[in-house]
Amino acid sequence: MIIDSHCHLHDAAFADVRETLREALAHDVWGVVAVGCDPETNSRTLAAAATVPKAVWACLGFHPDWAHLTDGDLDRVEAQLAEHHPRIVALGEIGLPWYSLEGRADAPARMTRGRARLDRLLGLAARWDLPVVLHAPHGAAQGALDALRRQGIERAVFHWHKAPPEVTRAIVEAGYFVSVTPEVVYRDRDRELVQSVPLDSLLVESDAPWAYRGEFEGFTSGPWLASRVAEEVAKIKQLPVEDVMFRLSTNACRLFDLVWA
Ligand SMILES: [Zn+2]
Repeated sequence: MIIDSHCHLHDAAFADVRETLREALAHDVWGVVAVGCDPETNSRTLAAAATVPKAVWACLGFHPDWAHLTDGDLDRVEAQLAEHHPRIVALGEIGLPWYSLEGRADAPARMTRGRARLDRLLGLAARWDLPVVLHAPHGAAQGALDALRRQGIERAVFHWHKAPPEVTRAIVEAGYFVSVTPEVVYRDRDRELVQSVPLDSLLVESDAPWAYRGEFEGFTSGPWLASRVAEEVAKIKQLPVEDVMFRLSTNACRLFDLVWA
């Protein structure tokens, strides 16, 4: 049994949350950490967690690569946090922009704004004593790590992690988690990451409804994919799959302060 540590249950693909969770459970996924991206998706995420409170844990977020989001939206997320912080397990997803900067003349200004917003969000995480789920791929990872240190944040996961090896090493040595998606089944970069990172620093996720390639082509994406990720981690680590699932679930419980159902 395993926990999907990052899923977009707010997506229309998962409008029937109960059915989604039933399907996940049929694939040994007994719980889902559900992230939000803006005020609307945050509201839907809270609703999903209220519908299936024993198997869904909500996070409220402000997606750094959703380029249309404004400071007004960030104000609304801050208000949501003030109202709902006792009902959520983390702030996420938050982080630094990367993909949305590509080919933009104003990329440096956007990165500067992104850093300021991340600092503000990490300040809120510290205020409400919440861990953070970070979107900080590639060249954004180092900046996010610096921000965590600056703000004194102790609990964080770099979701769908991709970064230069030396940055990954610094993240792990600082005690933060990194997580892998179904890409680990067919992508060397992710397999090397799993090889290099201790099991105690790893989480698995679906990031559903993201559609994956390889053996997943033609299949519907959903939280049920997390067990396939855990199975592949076990193969790469050459450890029994039951032990690996238990340890990965324990990691999620440690990070998000979850109670075993
Ligand atoms: Zn995501």
